[in-house]
Amino acid sequence: MKTIIKDIAYLVAGGKTGQIQRNVDMLIEDGMITGIGRDLQNDQAMLLDASGMIVYPGLINTHHHFYQVLTRNIPEIQNLELFDWLLWLYQRWRHLTPRMLYDASMVAMGELVQFGCTTMVDHHYVFPKYQSGMLEAQFEAAEKLGVRLHACRGSMSLGESRGGLPPDDLVQNATEILEDSQRLIDAFHDPSINSFRQIILAPCSPFSVDAELMRHSAQLARDNSVLLHTHLAETEDEVQYCLDAFGRRPLLIWKIWDGLEMMFFLHMEYISMIRSWIYWPKLKREWLIAPFPI
Ligand SMILES: [Zn+2]
Repeated sequence: MKTIIKDIAYLVAGGKTGQIQRNVDMLIEDGMITGIGRDLQNDQAMLLDASGMIVYPGLINTHHHFYQVLTRNIPEIQNLELFDWLLWLYQRWRHLTPRMLYDASMVAMGELVQFGCTTMVDHHYVFPKYQSGMLEAQFEAAEKLGVRLHACRGSMSLGESRGGLPPDDLVQNATEILEDSQRLIDAFHDPSINSFRQIILAPCSPFSVDAELMRHSAQLARDNSVLLHTHLAETEDEVQYCLDAFGRRPLLIWKIWDGLEMMFFLHMEYISMIRSWIYWPKLKREWLIAPFPI
């Protein structure tokens, strides 16, 4: 399939230069840009008139929780700190179904599309018992909207009875998580350059995942050449939890969770305040940061 976007008033070409071109056409073949110039011609191409318009690269969202659109704007939890907020919401999230997640994903991705986002990373870690097909529902929604979805197969293995924060019925054991992760990689992960579907492994956080799962997730990601993602030092709650549970601040936990040498990209909610919560210089250079869109 070929398309020519004609008479683009301003083309933001992206790349390191951020170059802007004026009054040009763009040829797209099978989803790839193959030509930029004036008066491009192709008899088989569909024409789109972009005169008076700006064309720019699709934006990339690096961290989201689509399912949370279902429980936002609840007055009584607006001012809670993270742990209290989570404890209140776990009781609602335990009722999540694939159909709810499909609807939430349509809303969340639809909102992102409105602002020019075309590639999205969703960190989904709520897998209530007796439900299946969660990420399948998300990929179905993404396909309907025509966006690229990098779906994180999140996980929680450390329930309340073992010192974790989530209730026991919202966590899974390592075998369940790892087998499902491999199944999803086999079914959906497409590493090609024009991929619309990728799987990322994403153990949720130090207060909901044990060291064994973190190590095995890293190994599984390495074996399958997929990315690994997690939260780190989200709030002071987490820092205090880590000090109480492990005697170390969040970043230094990785030192006792050996073997995490592959690339993580980390989600830190309050990045501007992070210097006071972690030892910033100790961040590995190859780790990438995924700030949260507010
Ligand atoms: Zn998050």
